[in-house]
Amino acid sequence: MAVPFRRTSKTKKRMRRTHFKLEAVNLVTCAHCGAMIKSHIVCPTCGYYDGKPIIVKEANKEAVKKDETRKKTKAPKTAKPKEETKVVKPTKANKDKAKLAIEQGKKGEK
Ligand SMILES: [Zn+2]
Repeated sequence: MAVPFRRTSKTKKRMRRTHFKLEAVNLVTCAHCGAMIKSHIVCPTCGYYDGKPIIVKEANKEAVKKDETRKKTKAPKTAKPKEETKVVKPTKANKDKAKLAIEQGKKGEK
């Protein structure tokens, strides 16, 4: 059986052991949900990678469906029919109606 020729000195042992250490994990924030995740992996909390749903979780199924429908509606650009605007003559009755509408709108906001 091979036996070490010389006992390893304290210094040699300690120098070798300087490499036995843990390094801090590089974390980034998920662009979709904002959770701290390792870079270049699918987000374990929301299942998104590069803005696309990779793992669809039960809780997020509806949101993913909404995203897909949005993409579908965005893709075919169709010209919207121009809304016809009615020209209203500025009479006293119309002004009163406009004032009422503005006041109701303000109340609605509050
Ligand atoms: Zn996420």
